Amino acid sequence: MKMIPLGTNGFFSSFDRQTACFVLPYKDRLLIFDAGSGLFRLGEPEGKKLLRNAKYIDIFLSHYHFDHTFGFYAAFNLFEKKNVTVYARSDRKVFSDFSFLEYFPINYDKEFINFSWKAVDKGTYSLSGYKMRIRRQNHRGEVSLAFTIEFPGGKTIAYVTDGEPIQESVEFVRGVNLLLHEHEPGSKEAKSKKLEDHIRDGHVTTEGAALIAREAAVKRLYLIHHNPFLDNEKLEKELTKIKPIFKESKLAKDLEVIEF
Ligand SMILES: [Zn+2]
Ligand SMILES: [Zn+2]
Repeated sequence: MKMIPLGTNGFFSSFDRQTACFVLPYKDRLLIFDAGSGLFRLGEPEGKKLLRNAKYIDIFLSHYHFDHTFGFYAAFNLFEKKNVTVYARSDRKVFSDFSFLEYFPINYDKEFINFSWKAVDKGTYSLSGYKMRIRRQNHRGEVSLAFTIEFPGGKTIAYVTDGEPIQESVEFVRGVNLLLHEHEPGSKEAKSKKLEDHIRDGHVTTEGAALIAREAAVKRLYLIHHNPFLDNEKLEKELTKIKPIFKESKLAKDLEVIEF
């Protein structure tokens, strides 16, 4: 199976990296994790190829911050002939308030007619041919969702971003084949042995992500939600720092396919 990162940045795009969006083709579906500006890439030739084989689109939103939702600006256009389901913590349409204020020039009921919006929360869900587990995270006083998916045959992935490093998170991702985990450059707390200390501005540090991967004995860790102020060289340094903690760590890069 494969995962295609369309946007690996957090916050805003920089250095040819768009914001949070990851696509996993599965039979006649595309599973999409977050809908940041990376979603716009589905309008480019590589993205169009992915869309061509998909009848159904399942979108999972970790939360509603713009770096995870701004791609919706193009969503009704990109998915015009698809059957789209958006899973998020509430069934509130993304940008519906904005269209009311005329900041988002879209008529939801007319243009998003092929979209359904489903509220999900912590728990286990049997979706179309795969099993989804959801965990609630604290994120700057708000709630965000983390996801793990198990496919028939046993392959597992986890998508964890904009949360906190706690033991519950370790249990949640235990043993997965592929862990996509956020990271934020750490500072003084980097040396601490206590997992909870590896947090910075409401995000898990790079060391924190590696500690979670190691303790959960995942097969592979891909770092996501890159800090936009770090160029690629600085990101590589972050990666080098954590290799002694968890050897199977990599940086997710926009459009570089991850096989698992
Ligand atoms: Zn974010
Ligand atoms: Zn956020």
